[in-house]
Amino acid sequence: RSPFRSALDAVIPYKGGMSLAEAGRRYRRTRFAKLASNENPFGPSPNVAAAVRDALHEVEFYPDAACTDLRARLSADLDVDPTALVFGPGSEAILDYALRATVDPGDVVVQSAPTFPSYAIVTKAIGAIVRDVTRKPDFSLDVDAVIASVQDGVRVLVLCTPNNPTGNLLSRADFARILAALPKDVVLLLDEAYREYIDADKQFDPLPMLRAWGGTWLALRTFSKAYGLASMRVGYGIASSPDFVAYIDRLRPFFNVPTLSQAAALAAWSDQAHLHKTVAATVAERARLLPKLRELGLTPTDSQANFHLFEVADAVATSEAMLAEGVIVRPIPFGTRSFLRVSIGTREDNDWMLTVLAEQLRKKA
Ligand code: PMP
Repeated sequence: RSPFRSALDAVIPYKGGMSLAEAGRRYRRTRFAKLASNENPFGPSPNVAAAVRDALHEVEFYPDAACTDLRARLSADLDVDPTALVFGPGSEAILDYALRATVDPGDVVVQSAPTFPSYAIVTKAIGAIVRDVTRKPDFSLDVDAVIASVQDGVRVLVLCTPNNPTGNLLSRADFARILAALPKDVVLLLDEAYREYIDADKQFDPLPMLRAWGGTWLALRTFSKAYGLASMRVGYGIASSPDFVAYIDRLRPFFNVPTLSQAAALAAWSDQAHLHKTVAATVAERARLLPKLRELGLTPTDSQANFHLFEVADAVATSEAMLAEGVIVRPIPFGTRSFLRVSIGTREDNDWMLTVLAEQLRKKA
């Protein structure tokens, strides 16, 4: 028999955006606009460099497995019990921990595609079943369909807001409606990787609502996006109770966040002024790009994240052609349709992207 688990036969491996190293190997250019992985183009707080340098004298020692300093700071600022926090090398790792801590083979996990691929990958790798609730034509969540889908012994519901790759936000009213109808034995995973990019007038704190619901839940957040630390691999989760974290601690790798990464995350967190400045620049660019994309005949979704998504005739060919011109964007196939997801970059890179995109669309027309 195969030495590998049969559940893995059904898993399509995750394919991330192209790295600068690979793009540079394929096309001999000195500069690319890297707009395929929803990073913060302005980088982290300038304080991160010094914090990482200071932490270098500890590199021969294993890291603090409890992330003590980062935990204490987040616990205080977020007003959550320190033992209800979980850390990992990216929120994707915490997602993996949370699903493996709650889902048995054969269990059902509900999600709404198109969404972040890791939910389905981990679920299938466990040998559990993905139930996809179709989104509405504008890719907003079909709240009634989600509510209907979780009534028959479902194990986990994953909600991603703003959703990757569509950018759609789940409103406070819709979130409240889901919680009101969600059975208490369904575990709720709320992926908030892009929460910092939500317009101020649409933001809300989901934690009091989750506490009031009273079931088992985990809110996932990251230092990879707005905090500008994608390469450092730090994510965190806020759990419904220390119990959930205690179960995760049974299966997570012990030394899972490197010392330099913990130091970088703490420095980035401690500079909220830099966070707000770079988020504001990205949100302004998101708004500036919207009419420009429409002028090209495209219909971007209503994005509250740091990217735009729009349908094109052949996203793979278009992204390849754009890559040859130095602009890295992400093709997103969905059923028989194909979309491009372009991260919001610096103003200069966004204008470069628009020029190259317009050129490709003109060639196709
Ligand atoms: N959730 C969503 C919705 C994402 O888009 C991503 C990254 N693309 C992640 C989680 C994982 O990010 P990280 O592991 O870097 O925290």
